[in-house]
Amino acid sequence: MPSQHRAACDIVVFGGTGDLALRKLLPALYYLHRDNHLHPATRVLALARARHELPAYRQLVQRHVSQYVAQGDFDQHSWDSFAERLDYMSLDVSQRVEFPKLAKALGKKSDRVRLFYLATFPNLFAATAHHLASVGLTDGRSRIVLEKPLGQSLTTANAINDGIGSVFDEARVFRIDHYLGKEAVQNLLALRFGNALFEPLWRNAHIDHVQISVMETVGVENRGDYYDHAGAMRDMVQNHLLQLLCLVAMEAPVHFEPEAVRNEKLKILEALRPISGMDVQDSTVRGQYSSGQRAGEKLPAYYFEKSVDHDSNTETFVALKAEIDNWRWAGVPFYLRTGKALAQRKSEIVIQFKAVPYRLFGGSNEPAHNRLVIRLQPDESISLSLMAKTPGRGMALQEVELDLNFADAFKRRRWDAYERLLLDVIEGDATLFMRRDEIEAAWRWVDPIIQGWQDCYRSPKRYAAGSWGPDAADSLLDRLGHAWLDER
Ligand code: NAP
Repeated sequence: MPSQHRAACDIVVFGGTGDLALRKLLPALYYLHRDNHLHPATRVLALARARHELPAYRQLVQRHVSQYVAQGDFDQHSWDSFAERLDYMSLDVSQRVEFPKLAKALGKKSDRVRLFYLATFPNLFAATAHHLASVGLTDGRSRIVLEKPLGQSLTTANAINDGIGSVFDEARVFRIDHYLGKEAVQNLLALRFGNALFEPLWRNAHIDHVQISVMETVGVENRGDYYDHAGAMRDMVQNHLLQLLCLVAMEAPVHFEPEAVRNEKLKILEALRPISGMDVQDSTVRGQYSSGQRAGEKLPAYYFEKSVDHDSNTETFVALKAEIDNWRWAGVPFYLRTGKALAQRKSEIVIQFKAVPYRLFGGSNEPAHNRLVIRLQPDESISLSLMAKTPGRGMALQEVELDLNFADAFKRRRWDAYERLLLDVIEGDATLFMRRDEIEAAWRWVDPIIQGWQDCYRSPKRYAAGSWGPDAADSLLDRLGHAWLDER
């Protein structure tokens, strides 16, 4: 859509001095400006408690934008014109009395769309919404964007959603999961529903199991305070991994429109077989990194990280076996795995097909299972492994890969997930955002697992930082004759 046909917006970024805003949101807005996707009259107003004069704030943002956009993408001319859109205000969102000055700054322009992006903390979300309402800033042309984590449990998520819902109707609430903004994730949908090839195979008759891994090499870095109260289950599984699972498993929506897509995702979340009580020990593994090393560099144990409790029982690793009780997926294990301080950084989805029914070629030719690998990080690619004959006499088979690397296939610059998602909010398209009932269904499945861990009083299994996680995560798959697809 040409930028002048998009509505003029006031994009209000709460938490405008924070890590998320400086590293992701403002660089994404810079790109949208540079590439002419913003209406000429769109303004960006950043807010936080810290006092900054506007020139100093703009300098702060410039430093970050130039650091976080791709090399060669920062140009002074684009920056100067972007900076003219950028304003800053010191405001404490917990203080209602401070909101009239925000209302005054935004003015009463009813033709503008107001986007309130809450890049602060979830305990401030409901109060922020109420304070916005108290000064008349929440009319029908306003939208609110919420960052994860939305609560710590179903109860706390409901409290946040109730608070927001009493001010903004659901159609104006955009709950962001930036994984859904990644090109490779949307390509998963294109692959499934834009090609006739896979659909007949995309079911329990032909798929042996699915692996979804989101692995990081970094530890908790400077987020120990937040992370120690969350852990990998709440930080990653409840949102990112379950959303990826939904996209792999959902039926084709009737239309590619918000409600149709979200209805299908919800059906998958509701079909997840509950894991509770004794099943928790059988179907899940939780781990915490101890000291270790990578390439000769010593890595600290989790409990020595900054702002982490020395007796912490918080998990930095989760592996689990999920099952979907529906016609298409009955009997197919979905293995989910995520963790910090691991040997390799990668996010990928592996679809492992069943073995051929009969070994035709004899000898040492044991055909490997066909595998479709959708890689989201570090590079975005899709590969399909097939068996092929090696050159020469005889019928010796070898596994070969058909590779689609998006960077090679499409020479265009790759959009960051936040660019895509911010533009969707500007256009009011909620297809890639989570609806309240999805959040609730995800918590309803996750809560009993966390409860099961608490009830058994067992500490998380230790794994050396820089390793592949606890051995128990390998045993989880080994029991059914499966193994994680890693290049160890
Ligand atoms: P952060 O670096 O600690 O930044 C928090 C921001 O909120 C700062 O600008 C802070 O500025 C502002 N703030 C805090 N209390 C405030 C108040 N009472 N009134 C107004 N502003 C207030 O945190 P972050 O990493 O950016 O994360 C922000 C949110 O995004 C969190 O919910 C986090 O879980 C989520 N998130 C972050 C990332 C990421 O990559 N960082 C990724 C996904 C989700 P002042 O202290 O000056 O007020």
